[in-house]
Amino acid sequence: MTFAFTATVLGSPRIGPRRELKKAVESYWAGKLDADALESVGKDLRRQTWAELVDAGFDSVPVGTFSYYDQMLDTAVMLGALPARVAGIDNELDRYFAAARGNSEVTPLEMTKWFDTNYHYLVPEITPATTFTLNPAKVLGEVAEAKALGVPARPVVIGPVTFLLLAKFEGGAPLDRLDEIVPLYADLLSRLADAGIEWVQIDEPALVADRTDAELAATRSVYDRLSALDHRPAILVASYFGDLGPALPALVETGVEGIAVDLVAGSLGSVVEVPGIERKHLVAGVVDGRNIWRSGLDGSLDALETLRERAGSVAVSTSCSLLHVPYSLDGEDAIDGALRSWLAFGSEKIREVATLATGLSSGRDAIARELSETRAAAATRAADPRLHDDAIRDRLAALTEADRNRRPAAERRVVQAAELPLPQLPTTTIGSYPQTTAIRVARAALRKGEIDQAEYQRRMQGEIADVIALQEKLDLDVLVHGEPERNDMVQYFAEQLDGFFATANGWVQSYGSRCVRPPILFGDVRRPKPMTVEWFTYAQSLTDKPVKGMLTGPVTILAWSFVRDDQPLAESADQVALAIRDETVDLEASGATVIQVDEPALRELLPLRAADQRAYLDWAVGAFLLSTSGVADTTAIHTHLCYSEFGEVIGAIAGLDADVTSIEAARSHMEVLDDLNAVGFDLGVGPGVYDIHSPRVPSVDEIAGSLRAALKAVPAERLWVNPDCGLKTRGPVEVEASLRNLVEAARVVRAEI
Ligand code: GLN
Ligand code: ZN
Repeated sequence: MTFAFTATVLGSPRIGPRRELKKAVESYWAGKLDADALESVGKDLRRQTWAELVDAGFDSVPVGTFSYYDQMLDTAVMLGALPARVAGIDNELDRYFAAARGNSEVTPLEMTKWFDTNYHYLVPEITPATTFTLNPAKVLGEVAEAKALGVPARPVVIGPVTFLLLAKFEGGAPLDRLDEIVPLYADLLSRLADAGIEWVQIDEPALVADRTDAELAATRSVYDRLSALDHRPAILVASYFGDLGPALPALVETGVEGIAVDLVAGSLGSVVEVPGIERKHLVAGVVDGRNIWRSGLDGSLDALETLRERAGSVAVSTSCSLLHVPYSLDGEDAIDGALRSWLAFGSEKIREVATLATGLSSGRDAIARELSETRAAAATRAADPRLHDDAIRDRLAALTEADRNRRPAAERRVVQAAELPLPQLPTTTIGSYPQTTAIRVARAALRKGEIDQAEYQRRMQGEIADVIALQEKLDLDVLVHGEPERNDMVQYFAEQLDGFFATANGWVQSYGSRCVRPPILFGDVRRPKPMTVEWFTYAQSLTDKPVKGMLTGPVTILAWSFVRDDQPLAESADQVALAIRDETVDLEASGATVIQVDEPALRELLPLRAADQRAYLDWAVGAFLLSTSGVADTTAIHTHLCYSEFGEVIGAIAGLDADVTSIEAARSHMEVLDDLNAVGFDLGVGPGVYDIHSPRVPSVDEIAGSLRAALKAVPAERLWVNPDCGLKTRGPVEVEASLRNLVEAARVVRAEI
């Protein structure tokens, strides 16, 4: 029998405990660091990551979850499946980054959310012309590196089924291409066996979503074929983010040696009943890889012991890669002792895995101290008064349907047009303008105490004045203040709301070099005072044009936070919604006629299984409506959605009942408009007319072309003109050039109507 390891994680974060990789990659892009120096930063981080796992006593360590940008892009490279438009770029690293971010000549791959997380992967493009070839240099290189360090390496690759199901296809059904790539995986397995590898981890998270019988049969055939090879490591098929459902028996029937199951998002019951698991090594994801709460060790041990009675052997693991949580609680000095004792970040989770492995092998006495500490922490958490605010709970209990309803949209349109006359095809932006060096310097200076709040405020007002002046010069119709004061669209609100805690260094990779610091929602949510009104009032005082009030919606605030796990998400959402509602009412009272409540994460939280989606959409839409229905009919509510395929939530987008919805469409080429039409959507819509994720400046012709395409799907009366997302990651020069072209394109197309 293959060696059955006992303790591991499914993957590791890679951005660096102090975001070293982010900084190195960005320096490389800026031409300030060469490829060798970048590679040495990567190598150092990999070594540190593996060392921590080895030191914790893990007898199997994931290798290959490191990436300079994204694991799906790495897989596309491994399978020789980069798009033809980057093929001409000779330098391998530059080709890779061009596929990831585009450059002045080529557009990048599309980017979309990784299952229901806030991580974005690059969507491989497969066409009939794609000829797959194995390019295993990255994984073999990292394996050699790990072996040289004495690390018990378990290489990790994304599996063929998930790779194809998540790719974008031109012609043909995804799984029809399995026959072309399975032999490449077979080749890879043989090379890993040559390298002396005992276990390989093949990630197939796509199997936790609903799959057709044909897809399940194809999966089964893939793993029959791979497990039938005689020269190969033992195969661990890893799932995460939910139950495998019918895919579990399908996998159990194949000859793979191990299966990783998520026992946090998924359930133990669905695993132990499956006949045949007594032949398998079960890697039990009992430590939550997605949230930051300390494990209830008792419950985890119960689950592990139950599983051990049924499975061939059991290893303790995280429910998914630790990519989704911050590195460590070290350095989080501002957390009060109580809250701290409830938490576990990456390093603490690694120790939990080790503790549980000891408990499982040597009995509970061997971990008595850890068990009693965990119980004590759970007791203080349950009793903490910050978790139960009666005033908020009473207000929620008293809500009625009327609190989630406005007058019919058609009637609102009439009064809003009278309140705020606008030209056809009004132009606007999504909210943020470039986060300039001056802004970052000011924020850092405030944090270090080098400047006071008044000076910070003065500098931010200077930025706002610049952005307003720019928009007036460019002649945009509905202005924004530019959000200079916001480090992040969720954190900014979390810092001002009771019930949230903002970490000092809790960075998590969002995409490529972009990291976010999700706040921790631990208690009941209260808004002690207005959060955005002063900035809005200042911006509006500088111009006669309307300035949009700019808020983040309740669903997105939850999606981009670590949420409490002691009450349903729906309840937390309504608590946040009340705070946002109070803010809209205050903005309106201060003169705002347009208020945008962003919900870019609406699609992201959608449950992976259809059976769970209705309930989610009901509470998500309900929370948005609660947050936006407190204003008068004359006030236009806008919303903004991005980063995803909207097909599945298109009905919910209509349900938001926002007067205007701006929506990412540049990268998905306006398909979204047809989808909206199909559900009878008849509100205002601003399909993004250019892609802000790339530094390219779109030409007037290109934008005008997008607008003409949009006009085929949407009447001019409902069409807005805007970029596809906020501009904070872009440089001021390209933003000005792009927006000048956008305004000009709107003018050109207006004249054609
Ligand atoms: N208003 C936000 C901004 O412009 C929206 C960002 C987003 O959609 N992610 O930055
Ligand atoms: Zn956006």
